[in-house]
Amino acid sequence: MANKKLELVPLYDWGMFTEPRPSVVAGPCSAETEEQVMETARGLKEMGINVYRAGIWKPRTHPGSFEGIGTEGLRWMQRARKEFGLKIATEVASERHVMECIKFGVDLVWIGARTTANPFLVQEIADALKDTDIPVLVKNPVNPDLELWIGALERLNRAGVRKLGVIHRGFSTFEKIKYRNDPQWQIAIELRSRYPELPFFVDPSHMGGSTDYIREISQRSLDLGFEGLMVESHCNPSCAMSDAKQQLTPDQLSDLLYNQIAVRDADSDSPQWKENIDQLRAKIDVIDENLLYVLASRMKVSRQIGQYKKDNNIAILQASRWDSVLAKVVEKGADYELSEKFLTAVFNAIHEASVEAQNEIISGRPSEL
Ligand code: PEP
Ligand code: MN
Repeated sequence: MANKKLELVPLYDWGMFTEPRPSVVAGPCSAETEEQVMETARGLKEMGINVYRAGIWKPRTHPGSFEGIGTEGLRWMQRARKEFGLKIATEVASERHVMECIKFGVDLVWIGARTTANPFLVQEIADALKDTDIPVLVKNPVNPDLELWIGALERLNRAGVRKLGVIHRGFSTFEKIKYRNDPQWQIAIELRSRYPELPFFVDPSHMGGSTDYIREISQRSLDLGFEGLMVESHCNPSCAMSDAKQQLTPDQLSDLLYNQIAVRDADSDSPQWKENIDQLRAKIDVIDENLLYVLASRMKVSRQIGQYKKDNNIAILQASRWDSVLAKVVEKGADYELSEKFLTAVFNAIHEASVEAQNEIISGRPSEL
């Protein structure tokens, strides 16, 4: 099904983000105490942040974890807004949350990953936001389902939300990976290519799950041409009541933004997203990583087949089988405008490596490859 066009207000007309990139939303995972909210806000304001985030209602995996301070925290946020001239932002997951945000003059809301995955809740939030002008950022759903993500954007847009953007925070995965969430950059790239004018933030804090990865993820997202970052920052991260490992102090955030990452975009004076050579190269890097992953997965299965052949005394090379695999690949490849010559070379190389790997298993000797 073709996606409908979204009616959007450009990010720099929202009245809270200005060039140069990246546009940053920063603040603690959770509002905890009035002192923590104010001290973090002061530190962030001093280093140039304009949009201040804090979670008021926290969707937690396990009950009994800190589930957010609730409405009282909005009063502290409101104070930070007044004293430091910050715009304030929080996560909403229900109509009630939206109503509270309206009451306390929250400037921007975001929808969390667990909520985006639920169309009932997204619809409820969209209905509650009707007739307001509050900008909304929609995090990707926890599962890698681009249509679900787009569906949430459509629901909000239909309800009249035109100051609309997204936050990519990675996807839950069962696999052991170095990050807390799997970036699956190709999904973000696909969304960007479908809606080039949709404001796009990346959340390196939740994606990485540790301060160790915030720099590399932030740089990567800038290289891909995404214009915003949402970063968790806390005045005293080690004492944070949620997500302690992934929060930076305001000073560390300042160092990240001003010294450690670079915007490599010749078109940075244009509010429109354009692909330049660096972004195209960053895209190719993502595709190459996926290719490596696919090749490694193939090799793993190939080794399993080797083991099976060994256990059952079957010969490694069965030429007719390979001929038919190759013929199928060449036929399918034509649909993708990939030439027979190219595919034959690539797949023969893959096959050769696969045979070597199986040889190694059967003979018990390491091969050259
Ligand atoms: C958050 O931003 O604090 C949060 C709960 O993030 P996510 O919805 O990405 O898990
Ligand atoms: Mn968090």
